[in-house]
Amino acid sequence: AIAALALTGCGRSESPSGGASGGAGGFEQNSSIGVALPQKTSENWVLAEKLFNDGLNGAGFKADVQFANGGVSEQQNQISAMVTKGAKVIIVGAIDGSQLGTQLKQAKDAGATIIAYDRLLLNTENVDYYVAYDNFKVGELQGQALLDGLKAKKPNGPYNVELFAGSPDDANAKVFFDGAMSVLKPKIDDGTLKVVSGQTNFEQAVTQGWKAENAQRRMDTLLTGSYTSANLDGVLSPNDTLARAVLTSVKAAGKPLPVVTGQDSEVESVKSIMAGEQYSTINKDTRKLVEHAITMVKDLQAGKTPEINDDKSYNNGTKTVPAYLLEPVIVTAANVKTAYTDDPVLGPITK
Ligand code: BGC
Repeated sequence: AIAALALTGCGRSESPSGGASGGAGGFEQNSSIGVALPQKTSENWVLAEKLFNDGLNGAGFKADVQFANGGVSEQQNQISAMVTKGAKVIIVGAIDGSQLGTQLKQAKDAGATIIAYDRLLLNTENVDYYVAYDNFKVGELQGQALLDGLKAKKPNGPYNVELFAGSPDDANAKVFFDGAMSVLKPKIDDGTLKVVSGQTNFEQAVTQGWKAENAQRRMDTLLTGSYTSANLDGVLSPNDTLARAVLTSVKAAGKPLPVVTGQDSEVESVKSIMAGEQYSTINKDTRKLVEHAITMVKDLQAGKTPEINDDKSYNNGTKTVPAYLLEPVIVTAANVKTAYTDDPVLGPITK
């Protein structure tokens, strides 16, 4: 799948590795480590805050974890403040990965190492590492789940579907969508899938701010505009929050529930899958992602070069960022009881 892609700008590409900087020298154990998180648009971010605080402080660092609920300028100010406080590593989950160039340069000039967390930092050379679940793979799994769910309901198409994408300022949103479309586009082209609204472009499918109310409003409009007589069979949703918004809209319209995909394994969505409503989610265990980011910090502290496992997939428009990618896992009713056995919250719910 990777070889078939030639995304320009952000996302995946096959350009050669830009190579990592940072890693030489090390720093004192009790140094400040900045973690700049975006808005609380899904449960994974809220969990990451606690895990970073516990994990970094537990390892002897001084954790400085900040949310930027106020938006991009708040996140810019937070990163500047982390530099002023002498952070040796700054981990960034960007609201808008293309709007932090000035602050990242400040940070690099002050000697900090920058790790992009979950979302890539775009159009800057001042990012050393990327740690994330494989976003393109997430999209592919969502696209395949939509097809599988539709086939399970009725063996032959055509199927009427609608497409939703995440927030356009989040670098991940386009990658999720492109991954899904790599699976769905051939089926749209051969007539198996019909997007009745005709809205098949990323720009038409986006959900500003990853906000449930925006997805719900768009679904309402699509239902009244395109589905007064037609049946809606399936919806590509990029995450669980938006999946539940889509289901809420369809229920309010009194229509049969379509096959709806998701991502994040949010508690309400996992329950919904068990109840036979939402079709799928993606398991991207936040504990593993935070743990890996902290492992990178520990390596940097010890003067070692952090481990990466991908040096060609994530080009940010300026360089290909050395990445450590984790494997996302699709979850449907078929495996929901076994997928979360070691998860402290979801394990007991799905037993
Ligand atoms: C994350 C998703 C999440 C979304 C909204 C993305 O960048 O990768 O897991 O659903 O942000 O919070």
